[in-house]
Amino acid sequence: QKIRLGIIYGGKSSEHEVSLRTAMSIMQAVDANKYEVTPVYVQLDGAWVTGETLAGQLPDKIEALRLSAKTPKSGSLFAMNEQMDVVFPVVHGPFGEDGTIQGLLELANIPYVGTGVMASAIGMDKWMMKTVFAQAGLPQVKYVGFLRSQWEKGQDDVMDRIERELGYPCFVKPANMGSSVGINKAKNREELKHALEVAAKFDRRLIVEEFVQARELEIGVLGNEELLTSVVGEVIAAKEFYDYEAKYKGAGTELSIPAIVPEHVSKQIADIAKQAFQALDGSGLSRIDFFWDEKNDKLYINEVNTMPGFTPFSMYPMLFQAAGVSYSELIDRLVQLAIERHADKG
Ligand code: ATP
Ligand code: MG
Ligand code: MG
Ligand code: MG
Repeated sequence: QKIRLGIIYGGKSSEHEVSLRTAMSIMQAVDANKYEVTPVYVQLDGAWVTGETLAGQLPDKIEALRLSAKTPKSGSLFAMNEQMDVVFPVVHGPFGEDGTIQGLLELANIPYVGTGVMASAIGMDKWMMKTVFAQAGLPQVKYVGFLRSQWEKGQDDVMDRIERELGYPCFVKPANMGSSVGINKAKNREELKHALEVAAKFDRRLIVEEFVQARELEIGVLGNEELLTSVVGEVIAAKEFYDYEAKYKGAGTELSIPAIVPEHVSKQIADIAKQAFQALDGSGLSRIDFFWDEKNDKLYINEVNTMPGFTPFSMYPMLFQAAGVSYSELIDRLVQLAIERHADKG
């Protein structure tokens, strides 16, 4: 008996394109003897398309897979649970990675891969995530969080506070985003103003962080309550920081797997990663990003990504590949974890 696997991808998000790549990779990698795949595409305008409507919009190889699937009528979202045994929502960023699709799948009573509503929502909002990290006593860089409306009403007050509490350089980010979208480094007040204006276009919640001169280390977590960690990987960005271009156009970025770091560092990373995952009530998977200030041997957690890039060349799958779990095996395990978690709740 094949597992009927729904793959929800695309989404109303700046990371739409990234999601398409991930979804295509998963569809290509799954064993057709084990899975019957139904693609569900969320267009940029938020419309959901599947079945006949989606025909002709997928590359040939994928199209062949799609045809082997039963096709739910477009729009019959809550009938999905009759057509799918489990869903893999590979939507990054707002309207997907943030608990919204997860909530919908909870209502539809369908097991799904990855973190639940709460962990997804907390993991999406960097301000809230940092609040939870602080509560869990995890080491992180200094930061200031505020609303866009506060910034608009009192630009000088906000910038004064940032200068007082953090100084330069600092990193300005929309709280709810990923793939470095809307993120800028500021070295002076003028750049800060500009960076805040950019970030404010993406979100009504904003954060600014102290800049750390550090190596960027990442680790994968896999599991529900018993957690497996991957090897540690390093991102070596040729540019000033690991921005969108560097991430997806591969502009001079190198992934070093495993990272060449002392054992006490990788141990500490694995340990903090598990604590962070549990603090959010994570499940399934997450990629957890760190900064390691080598000179002072200080480690900071940066963030938890609950639906990390998931092509075979993305960090998370490569970290597990290095730990002995192949890409298709990783998908199998995630599907099993989704089914187990669903049963555990019931
Ligand atoms: P993703 O989800 O794709 O990993 P993101 O959009 O959530 O990215 P961050 O990981 O927070 O964003 O930041 C993007 C990049 O900016 C980091 O990988 C790092 O290169 C740089 N960066 C972010 N914050 C800092 C900081 N406080 N100090 C130094 N560099 C930083
Ligand atoms: Mg992120
Ligand atoms: Mg992200
Ligand atoms: Mg990151």
